[in-house]
Parts: sequence; structure tokens; C-alpha cells
Amino acid sequence: MNEMILKFPARSENEVFARNAVAAFALPLNPSISELSDVKTAVSEAVTNCIVHGYREREGWVTVLCRTEGSRLDVEISDEGRGIEDVERALRPFFTTLPGEERSGMGFTIMQTFMTGFSVESVPGKGTKVTMSKVFSAREQRDAG
Ligand code: ATP
Ligand code: MG
Repeated sequence: MNEMILKFPARSENEVFARNAVAAFALPLNPSISELSDVKTAVSEAVTNCIVHGYREREGWVTVLCRTEGSRLDVEISDEGRGIEDVERALRPFFTTLPGEERSGMGFTIMQTFMTGFSVESVPGKGTKVTMSKVFSAREQRDAG
């Protein structure tokens, strides 16, 4: 088991830092290039949501907690921002509260598709936490295949 916590200001330049830091942390598990790319995409979507929706581009902290256990990576990404009124609705493909801008309402759908496990907890006015996991295929299997 290994763990790490990252905490950084909700600024868009930190999104690149966060996704690469999580990918680097997962490297000892020998992920494939495509598994690593799935993790980076999911982290990037979750961190972007904290910045644009949680804090609406205002100041705040984003926390990324990572844990590895065997061949599984767990990632929790949280903010202390606005929170989500209706999580079930927010999870629907194409649902967005920022239409007309470059948002397509696909972030949560992408996280669910690219990761093995996915859940969201949110309290309006308090914040949002996205919990995701990814189980990496064994390296021997990939080498053989
Ligand atoms: P896209 O991710 O495609 O750019 P999007 O961010 O609107 O668009 P999702 O990532 O699927 O789509 O999020 C759906 C909706 O859930 C958002 O429009 C927003 O209303 C809400 N939401 C998501 N994350 C947060 C968050 N951290 N804090 C508050 N609201 C959030
Ligand atoms: Mg999004």
C-alpha cells in the first residue's frame, strides 16, 4: 500500500500538474499506456470540474488523494465549493449547468467509462468529492498478449 495527497489552488494550470502527478504515482503498478491515459483523462475531468463548477473560477483548494493497493489505484478528488444540487441529474450524459460555453456535459460520463470504479458525493454549499478507482491488468498478461 502506498498513499499521497496533493493540495493545490483551483487554477487551470494545475490541472496538467495533477494528472501527471497521479500518473507518476501509478507507474510502479506497471499500467499500460492506454490505462495510464484513461487515468489522466479522468483526473483531468474531475479537477477541471472543481475549478469551473466547484469554485466558478474563484479561489479555493483542490485536494487529490491517491492510494495504491495491489494492482488497484484509488483516487479521490475533492473541492469545498458550491456542491451539486442533484447528483443523479449531473451524472446524465450531456447534462451541464454551463451550456453555451465549451462544456459538453460529458465529464462524469468520461470518468465512468475510463475508470473501473466511480462515485460522487456532494453537499450543496459544502463541496464535492469524486472517488474513482482503476484496476490495472497484470503486466505478464500484457507481455504475453
Ligand atoms: P464537460 O465536462 O463536458 O466540459 P460539464 O463539466 O458541464 O461539461 P460534467 O463534468 O459531466 O459536465 O458535469 C456535469 C455537471 O455537474 C456540471 O455542469 C455541474 O453542474 C456539475 N458539477 C460537476 N462537478 C462539479 C463540482 N466539482 N462542483 C459543483 N458542480 C459540479
Ligand atoms: Mg466537466
